[in-house]
Amino acid sequence: YFTEIKQLPPDPLFGLKARYTADPRSDKVDLGIGAYRDNNGKPWILPAVRGAEKKLIESPGYNHEYLGISGYEPFLTAAAEVILGANSRAISESAIVSQQSLSGTGALHLVAVFLNEFFAGNKTVYLSKPTWANHHSVFLSAGLKVDTYPYWDAENKKLDIEGFVSTIQNAPQGSIILLHPCAHNPTGLDPTPAEWNRILDAIAERKHLPIFDSAYQGFASGSLEKDAASIRTAIDSGKISSPIFVCQSFAKNVGMYGERVGALHVILPAGESAESKETLKSAIKSQLNKLTRSEISNPPAYGAKIVATVLTDPESRKQWEEDLVTMSSRIIKMRNELKLKLIGLGTPGTWDHITNQTGMFSFTGLTPDMAERLEKVHGVYLMSSGRASVAGLNDGNVDKVARAFDEVIRF
Ligand code: PMP
Repeated sequence: YFTEIKQLPPDPLFGLKARYTADPRSDKVDLGIGAYRDNNGKPWILPAVRGAEKKLIESPGYNHEYLGISGYEPFLTAAAEVILGANSRAISESAIVSQQSLSGTGALHLVAVFLNEFFAGNKTVYLSKPTWANHHSVFLSAGLKVDTYPYWDAENKKLDIEGFVSTIQNAPQGSIILLHPCAHNPTGLDPTPAEWNRILDAIAERKHLPIFDSAYQGFASGSLEKDAASIRTAIDSGKISSPIFVCQSFAKNVGMYGERVGALHVILPAGESAESKETLKSAIKSQLNKLTRSEISNPPAYGAKIVATVLTDPESRKQWEEDLVTMSSRIIKMRNELKLKLIGLGTPGTWDHITNQTGMFSFTGLTPDMAERLEKVHGVYLMSSGRASVAGLNDGNVDKVARAFDEVIRF
């Protein structure tokens, strides 16, 4: 019945999770998967979400009907506003097409299939080296090519901004550039505002098409505005002549990982006549609708309704902004504690990068051999690349983790 079906190796991240779950040691530590944990190491339902769920369920006319193909309109409007900013050029000029997606991954998939069919430029997506591993899979399986731009300078444990900018400048004109607007996964290193200007200028000069993959807005710094600044600059400066794609995930910042809440926003460049803009918008919308209809028929409603409530109900919104600070500041505190403990132990190496990085992840600089020993000897699980999910640290395990790092580094 089949031609040969090749057995594939398990996904490295979900394989790590399975080994962690099967480990009987009671003091094991999971620094693998990128999901927030509270100070007791437990998943956290945001108070804003609990409140919004209650309001939603008790609201008149609440039901579980199908959504339209574009998704839940109040969610799409509020989602665009939170990422682009209420004063965005894109909003005032009505230059946006929004499509609800299966979280950030679904938005990336929509962009990939859409560009593979309609992009007239170089159908190669430039990804940071390293990047979230699934980026490669998502773009390759849609038929696009992928290439990389330098990002992590391993020797100095910092951003290779010169390599990044020169690769963009030398890429064929009209290529696709994928950008992490904040909390870069896996390195946790973000460009400074001045570095962003250089990156965006290079993109503008070479007429490239940028895709912003926003998976951590508000989660990195605690500020929605700061974490979206690169996207807002790209759009509001008006220097980029191509459409701009924004993939937006509410997995981490609303803590609704499994509900798959997200959106794709396509922002048209300034300067189109009103008539041609409307024609282009409705053509893009019809194609995104066609794709969505053939793949999932219509997007899931429950999570989108909760997120719409969180974003638009004043009490829920206020609570959410506090929740973002709770999550981001706990992570920042854990970065500090890990660094101080390593310094206290005299662990060989420098540790400033742990606190210079932001967001969920730290690229620790540990080698694959060290990661393996951490897992086997100490029951501390992190990716073989040395990426640690800082959200897995808490007051109860940070000391153990620092000692384990120290032992494997000296071994
Ligand atoms: N992009 C990046 C950079 C990510 O880190 C993630 C989550 N790990 C995603 C996209 C997608 O996440 P989700 O599909 O859960 O929204």
